[in-house]
Amino acid sequence: MGTSLWIVDSSVDDLWGNPQIKDAAHQIRKGEVVAFPTETVYGLGANALDSTAVKKIFEAKGRPSDNPLIVHIAEKDQLRELVDEVTPVGEKLMNAFWPGPLSLIFKKKEGVFSELVTAGLDTVAIRVPEHPVAIALLKEADVPVAAPSANRSGRPSPTTAKHVLDDLHGRIKGVVDGGETGYGLESTVVDCTGDIPIILRPGSITAEDIRELIGEVLVDPALKDEKEAPKSPGMKYRHYAPEHPLFLVEGPIQLLQEFVDRFNQEGKRVGVLSTQENHQNITADATIVIGSEEELSSVAHSLYDTLRKSDQLNVDILLSQTFPEKGVGQAIMNRLRKAAGNQVLTEENLKK
Ligand code: AMP
Ligand code: MG
Repeated sequence: MGTSLWIVDSSVDDLWGNPQIKDAAHQIRKGEVVAFPTETVYGLGANALDSTAVKKIFEAKGRPSDNPLIVHIAEKDQLRELVDEVTPVGEKLMNAFWPGPLSLIFKKKEGVFSELVTAGLDTVAIRVPEHPVAIALLKEADVPVAAPSANRSGRPSPTTAKHVLDDLHGRIKGVVDGGETGYGLESTVVDCTGDIPIILRPGSITAEDIRELIGEVLVDPALKDEKEAPKSPGMKYRHYAPEHPLFLVEGPIQLLQEFVDRFNQEGKRVGVLSTQENHQNITADATIVIGSEEELSSVAHSLYDTLRKSDQLNVDILLSQTFPEKGVGQAIMNRLRKAAGNQVLTEENLKK
């Protein structure tokens, strides 16, 4: 399949009528899949009401069929036709954070969505994105669009059109290139079907943000405890994995240096992922900077690009520093742990 590239200047606020976006939206209406930028990561979109179209998302990504998709809509008014119930908590969250990087789980209206979208669950995840390209595309397509991240399953999510093409060239109808995405991590997923919101996947809208608004927030225990079954099916899969084995080092940056030295002694070449501040204090075979300690959102922004770039390093293993699990640090550590397949090194391991 030929994959089209539609280049759009996303600094334009209102892209209504843009010919590239019209083309892409036409393909979605025809039942094809196209990738597009959102404020979180690039999504791979198809008409959420059309099973034949949605099936193409799973095929292009190689995504397991028990992992449901997030439905994107242009305006919150569309919700009434799609869900059975909006709880008071859901209403508050939507009003505060939409458009934006928050996906909410609602009881779905039966018979509306393709069953593939919801993987047979009686709930559906929905969000209104904040990106001008995504909004214009959704308005033009005029259907709810199911869109997971536009990467091959298991790979880091794409934050540029190039990342999408690296993974999916020839497998999808096209990509709208609207430049680099903003937040860089996928949306926060929150179950708002009860009285207290439950975070199923951390993101740039943080537990602190939600607690401030609602007063109370729970976190799916599976996010902390590997033995628990996650409430969000996708959270059980290995994700974001770089090509080289990745280990997280829990402790001060000196400890990370000690691990570099230890692996070097064993004859292994080591690549290090660390912030701008720590970068200068590390000597390794290769180093990559992931944002700044001062501004954790800069770490979120560059995390996936860093993981993809690490594939090009001539090393045997990768070591990454860790981050405080506060604010967006929670989402960063969630993605890093998955990328590392939960391989964490502490001072204890050094003694062995
Ligand atoms: P992605 O689209 O790749 O960012 O993944 C979407 C995430 O949302 C996955 O972790 C899904 O398991 C989760 N998700 C989608 N729909 C639901 C739902 N109805 N209930 C719980 N989690 C969901
Ligand atoms: Mg994904």
